[in-house]
Amino acid sequence: MSLYFTEEHNFFRKSFRDFLQKEVTPHINKWEETGHIERFIWEKFGDMGYFGINYPEQYGGMDLDLFYTVIFLEELQRVNSGGFAAAMWAHAYLAMTHLNKEGNDAQKQKYLAPSITGEKIGCLCVTEPFGGSDVGGMRTTAVKQGDSYIINGSKTFITNGVYSDYLIVAAKTSPELGNKGISIFVMDRDVPGISATKLDKLGWRASDTGEIAFDNVEIPAANLMGEEDMGFPYIMQHFALERLIMGINAHARSEWALDYTIQYMKDRVCFGRPISQFQALRHKIADLAADLDLCKTYNYATTKRLNDGEYVVKEATISKLTSTKMADQLAYDCVQLLGGYGYMEEYPLARNLRDSRLGPIGGGTSEILREIIAKMVMDGKNYKPAT
Ligand SMILES: Cc1cc2nc3c(=O)[nH]c(=O)nc-3n(C[C@H](O)[C@H](O)[C@H](O)COP(=O)(O)OP(=O)(O)OC[C@H]3O[C@@H](n4cnc5c(N)ncnc54)[C@H](O)[C@@H]3O)c2cc1C
Repeated sequence: MSLYFTEEHNFFRKSFRDFLQKEVTPHINKWEETGHIERFIWEKFGDMGYFGINYPEQYGGMDLDLFYTVIFLEELQRVNSGGFAAAMWAHAYLAMTHLNKEGNDAQKQKYLAPSITGEKIGCLCVTEPFGGSDVGGMRTTAVKQGDSYIINGSKTFITNGVYSDYLIVAAKTSPELGNKGISIFVMDRDVPGISATKLDKLGWRASDTGEIAFDNVEIPAANLMGEEDMGFPYIMQHFALERLIMGINAHARSEWALDYTIQYMKDRVCFGRPISQFQALRHKIADLAADLDLCKTYNYATTKRLNDGEYVVKEATISKLTSTKMADQLAYDCVQLLGGYGYMEEYPLARNLRDSRLGPIGGGTSEILREIIAKMVMDGKNYKPAT
């Protein structure tokens, strides 16, 4: 892939891979069991600069191109813990993207800079219990009172929702305006009135997914991010990056699973031969590899366009829709190729299968993504960035 990656990129990949192997892999099973990623690793990521890849030098970042982010995401998937990877990228690319794009200098000094060093962990709170797909239908309100906003409502399924230090929260400042009345706020976790409950879930088990309640939470008016009532366009605008991230995660997770499966097939003997020699299975691998390669190539091309400044709504939507579908199928088929061992916790593909299932759900379900694509290709709808 020299079309996109330079020697510097390759060097970064190697050093990040070594770091993950040394500092993360030995702890993964424990974090998968407890659902709690210990603080020291956030700080180590911060010390190494990994949270600052994409952010301005002014706040301690490295301001590197998006292919470093691709490497960051791909290598995280090779650890084979969707939950660990999600905790890291939700902090670095959901919460921090809003801070970087909508935050003012004071907000960036207070939240973005310590996010880059790993001292503060963030989460992004959009989804609500009454319906996640209909973002415009959210019910959480933010009412202005003098120099404060009073927040009431609830959020659910929030990654880093329990152990993070600050929250980026979408709430309605003008409920009568529907999706044109949403604003974005940043707030500390310890503000009175904020409480969080940890949810149990099928996969992504290392990450804390939280349901969060806001009961008369008073925050300074200065915690409004960007312009009042512009929250919906801000959220939609960042979906381009978020959905491409989920597409990249999907191809990377699949590549790792496929490599593992091919090696397993070479070692596993049935009827006196390695199962890698059975033609039916070889053709299965060929199909999986072909679908995977198409997704990966498409995701890199979309990354290049986004990096060059294009607003790639349709492409990022296609990336997530297609790559997560491919990854789900591949995870399912690879378990099959391992036979009973595929179903065992002692083997890594069981976790891969359950982590993969979140792909077509989180960050916009496949049904919602098809709606967006249909509007663009059938109705000529054109989406423009908010800023
Ligand atoms: C582990 C995990 C982590 C998450 N992390 C975060 C996070 O950090 N921050 C955050 O804000 N959210 C997060 N989410 C929420 C996620 O984005 C939502 O779950 C998702 O957007 C779907 O919303 P919902 O679960 O309320 O489903 P619903 O909106 O209730 O949808 C239910 C079903 O109906 C379908 N559907 C709904 N509307 C339509 C329609 N118009 N046409 C056709 N089908 C439709 C959906 O596709 C789905 O199949 C996370 C979710 C999970 C499970």
